[in-house]
Amino acid sequence: MTTVLDGDAVASDIRDSLTDSIDTLTTAGVTPGLATVLMSTDPSSETYVSMKQRDCEEVGINGIHVEIDADAPATELYETIEDLNDDPAVHGILVQLPVPEHVDERRVVRSIDPEKDVDGFHPENVGRLVRGQPRFKPCTPHGVQKLLDAAGVDPDGKEVVIVGRSEIVGKPLANLLMQKAPDGNATVTVCHSHTADLAAKTRAADIVIAAAGVPELIDGSMLSEGATVIDVGVNSVDADTEKGYELVGDVDFESATEKASVITPVPGGVGPMTRAMLLYNTVKAASAQTGVEIELP
Ligand code: NAD
Repeated sequence: MTTVLDGDAVASDIRDSLTDSIDTLTTAGVTPGLATVLMSTDPSSETYVSMKQRDCEEVGINGIHVEIDADAPATELYETIEDLNDDPAVHGILVQLPVPEHVDERRVVRSIDPEKDVDGFHPENVGRLVRGQPRFKPCTPHGVQKLLDAAGVDPDGKEVVIVGRSEIVGKPLANLLMQKAPDGNATVTVCHSHTADLAAKTRAADIVIAAAGVPELIDGSMLSEGATVIDVGVNSVDADTEKGYELVGDVDFESATEKASVITPVPGGVGPMTRAMLLYNTVKAASAQTGVEIELP
């Protein structure tokens, strides 16, 4: 029997638990604030930001949205970040990436106050994570850890293969899962576009985490019997639907389900968890910046 993990349900549980922490903060006079900054006309980016704002509203986080014209000078974005850094009502800042080409993305990431960097991409926070002292765990990797936990899959001592080595998913996830810490202690292999024999690696894994951005890259023949499969990928492919496309993961769900003991669907798997963990980091940031103690789920 294969368990299909319901990311929406796990994310909803996390949001419910966060509500208690938010109540504690608001009772102490602190309303957690998350600023989202959008400098793009990309429809996906617009959708992601509006979903994040809706999530904030639902749990009682003060969502502050700043939109900057995609053609505006880069300095406008840098100055906006400075203002948000100085604003005590803002505990978390998220600049929706990618930014337009004329903006220096690395400068953007570096200019966010590390204490408000709820994405966890600032070099200081990356360093802390690698050292095993994370301030904010990046949202998608943290969401994957929480999903594994909800499925009762402890990575301790397991062979984990991560497919993808990006700064936002593959690398931080590898760091988290190999750490000597709860939800860690795995033996982690990171595969990427130069990996010689991907199937041999994934077949040897107890847990396969696909984050390559390649539709249905991993099929059942590449998995061992009883593997846990987490599909981070979200790929839009042409389809005979009303919109003319559909979203598929990096895993061929049908053939993978025949082998896996636990698998996540796309959509409805990792995606909702990423959003929930952003709220988590915002609440954590508000507590750290104000000294109001809370319990986090
Ligand atoms: P990226 O493009 O930055 O990185 C992709 C990685 O996959 C690279 O390291 C590359 O080496 C590797 N790769 C590419 N083709 C490969 C192949 N054939 N074999 C092995 N490795 C290969 O992507 P990203 O930002 O990490 O995102 C990965 C996927 O996850 C995308 O589909 C993205 O949309 C999705 N994503 C989903 C969420 C979510 O919340 N569900 C969050 C972030 C990213």
